[in-house]
Amino acid sequence: MSGEPVPPVDDVVAERLAVALRCVTISGDAGEPVNNAGISAEPADAEFAKLAEHLEHSFPRVHAELDLETLGRSRLYRWPGTDPDQVAALLLAHQDVVPVDDADRWTHPPFAGVVDPEFIWGRGAIDDKSRVLAILEAVEAALAAGVRPKRTIYLAFGHDEEVFGDRGAVLMAQRLRERGVHADLLLDEGGVITQGVADGVDVPVATIMVGEKGYATVRLSVREVGGHSSMPGRQTAVGRLARAVARLQDSPMPTRLIPVIADMLNRLRHTMAEPRRSLLKLAGNGVVAPLITRIMAATPTTEALVRTTTAPTVFHGGVKANVLPQRAEALVNFRILPGDSVESVLEHCRKVVRDKGIEIEVIGAASEPSPDPRVGPAFDLIARTAQSVVPGIAVTTGLVPGATDSRHYDDLAATRCNFAPIVLTQADIASIHGTDERISRLNYARLIEFNRRLLTELAG
Ligand SMILES: [Zn+2]
Repeated sequence: MSGEPVPPVDDVVAERLAVALRCVTISGDAGEPVNNAGISAEPADAEFAKLAEHLEHSFPRVHAELDLETLGRSRLYRWPGTDPDQVAALLLAHQDVVPVDDADRWTHPPFAGVVDPEFIWGRGAIDDKSRVLAILEAVEAALAAGVRPKRTIYLAFGHDEEVFGDRGAVLMAQRLRERGVHADLLLDEGGVITQGVADGVDVPVATIMVGEKGYATVRLSVREVGGHSSMPGRQTAVGRLARAVARLQDSPMPTRLIPVIADMLNRLRHTMAEPRRSLLKLAGNGVVAPLITRIMAATPTTEALVRTTTAPTVFHGGVKANVLPQRAEALVNFRILPGDSVESVLEHCRKVVRDKGIEIEVIGAASEPSPDPRVGPAFDLIARTAQSVVPGIAVTTGLVPGATDSRHYDDLAATRCNFAPIVLTQADIASIHGTDERISRLNYARLIEFNRRLLTELAG
């Protein structure tokens, strides 16, 4: 599998992705696909229809030879194996994208789908339309080459991943569950290959993530009588709430080195210089683990790997300088480490705030962390395939910091991997959900070739 160079992406293949990027398939916060006012006059549903038509037109063999079910705008494909009851893989990707609120700062308009000699530009270029199209490119090529898998392969392309997948992934997973599907491999978005991002590591590192953190937003609110600010009493609603928020920030949930992160460090240590290399060798040691945890907790990027993080993000209260506020509220966003839960976060908040006058509740969509993230048997296949496409990389594991559709399928596969073999810089990572999202032709070529080689392995 190794050694062969990755064939470049020609203009036809690049344009197929660009056309998909021109479909304004935005998922908004409200849980409904929304129209991105000012950029497209068409409602999002028509944009999903346009994307569907583009996929059907671009990948005729896929649409002739695979079974397709649509659930809402989500697309569940079944590529039956010669032994149809055996399921090799569930390949996940999502068709929706997040909105753009700074379109004038983009080099090219976010939904123009511009192709230049180096890049394909647009919202969704990385997250996640490149993965939808790359999987379809690979299956189309396999069908053209006469490949017929021994075991069944499913492709599941959600339409509401960015708003928690309740109408897409949840229903597709349910359908698979009813059929008794159990796959060897579940592959979805999450980790990538980074260079110069992990401190002290110079080689490019592929982070094949195997689970995810949970997510919850807690609202703290307080009501007071109000009145004139000349006679405020001991505290106002704003002061009382500020103290509660400060307590939460000052007393985060405890740090903990969970097994998957210890495994991550152990895999990474070979890429590091002394003394880290020797220190990390002892990550599983009960005496050294707290030291490692403390070092990691000192930096925000690594702190997120060893604890449930606390981020006060919104604070509202008061209307006028000389009027006592009658109501104040704050939102605090938590990313929950496996082992903690939405409920334990709430308990922690109540305990730390220590103020019965403050109402504490979870609002909006919340998700639990992966119950037991671990490196499964098919992990090595993903690692090997990544190394064949991008030679010279180190491979480690990790946790997705946010929620992905794959959490809805956790029970349906023996191995879960969240990974794409694209090499990203810190700036590229910032462009995901940010400004100037784009994918290089080279990365897109890697993505397609990775899927091709993976399908060849899975089909055998
Ligand atoms: Zn995504």
